[in-house]
Amino acid sequence: MAERTVSPPSVDEVRNLLRAVIDPELGANIVDLGMATDVGVSPAGLVTIGVKLTIKGCPLRAQIKNDIESRLEAHPGVTKVKIEWGEMNADERTEVMTKARWNAREKATDTAVPTSARVLAIASGKGGVGKSSVTANLAVALAAHGHVVGVLDADIWGFSIPRMLGMADRLEARRVDGSEKPKIIPNERVVGSGVLKVVSTGMLVEDESTALMWRGLMLTKAVEQFLNDVHWGKLDYLLIDMPPGTGDVQMGLARMLPRTDLIIVTTPAVSAQKVAIRAADMAQRSFLRIAGVIENMSHFTCDHDETYPLFGTGGGITLANEIGADLLGQIPIEFAVAHGSDAGEPVALAGSSPAAQVFRDIAKKIIASTVPVAEMAGCSARLLESVEVTLGKKQL
Ligand code: ADP
Repeated sequence: MAERTVSPPSVDEVRNLLRAVIDPELGANIVDLGMATDVGVSPAGLVTIGVKLTIKGCPLRAQIKNDIESRLEAHPGVTKVKIEWGEMNADERTEVMTKARWNAREKATDTAVPTSARVLAIASGKGGVGKSSVTANLAVALAAHGHVVGVLDADIWGFSIPRMLGMADRLEARRVDGSEKPKIIPNERVVGSGVLKVVSTGMLVEDESTALMWRGLMLTKAVEQFLNDVHWGKLDYLLIDMPPGTGDVQMGLARMLPRTDLIIVTTPAVSAQKVAIRAADMAQRSFLRIAGVIENMSHFTCDHDETYPLFGTGGGITLANEIGADLLGQIPIEFAVAHGSDAGEPVALAGSSPAAQVFRDIAKKIIASTVPVAEMAGCSARLLESVEVTLGKKQL
């Protein structure tokens, strides 16, 4: 990314960034839990923060450290992060456990996105680069590993997710667990041992052309409603198909779900890569972390095994290097990708083509880079069990 002279964040901004760091066992962020204390910012951009763990030597420490560093370093004005580790005293531990229990009770109806879900927004600088195809294929590839994968189609006007996933049923809304307001129930599709849970404005309107009626709707409002009023239930991943290039939805997401990681889709063309840089830049300005870049439509291999770089070469890796992110994969142009999307059976479901394989490899990389909550059972979980807990641990 081009050098910018940016002032260091204020202490309040640092606290806001730290709200994206979730203690997955306690189901709340480290600021609200009172774990992050004594934030200081030097004029040169050195951020010092005190983090109090429930127990010193907590196995979560490395994970919390990585998360804090990557969240704070997303701010261009942060030059270095220094964490001073501490341990809570008995009173502070009791207080944090009380907050965690309160939090469990608040979330008992499971209406919002569960904190255990990894949130990945699939974004692109412009339309037509294959962002929705990537979303649909990654969703089925993740589900095939036995995960519960939510898909939120935030491409409110240009939705194509219902068609691509073969899930066009109208959405239902009903009261859940005695909720005051009816909740939107996502459409479900079983994929192997996993499940897809999908919401899209395409499931609210009669047909794709009726979507024009939604033009007056404020994008961010619609996305906010999908985040807050959907009964997601259990989720391992939430994939958000972003509208192309818009900043509003990214800003809204950064506010509502600051732990969202962004995957940027581009084509090898220099023009697409330049536009994608703007999307990445916007993400970094709203302090969303970038999980990686995917280059789509990388090349075409004909029946005689000759490969043609139809849209040029190098866009994906150039973008990845420029924004300091990983290139997660390069997807070839294949008839099977387009056909799978049109038929509601994404190629990554059962296809054996090179593109299907790349989608599956990217899904594996995503899984490998996601720390499962179960493996993190450590200090806080043990503490929670040791104090009187009226709500079951599974509700965390
Ligand atoms: P976006 O969401 O960025 O607007 P789409 O995912 O809707 O883009 O893709 C645009 C068109 O290109 C669709 O018709 C889709 O089927 C096709 N397409 C996307 N990726 C590929 C690919 N790798 N090979 C062949 N066709 C593709």
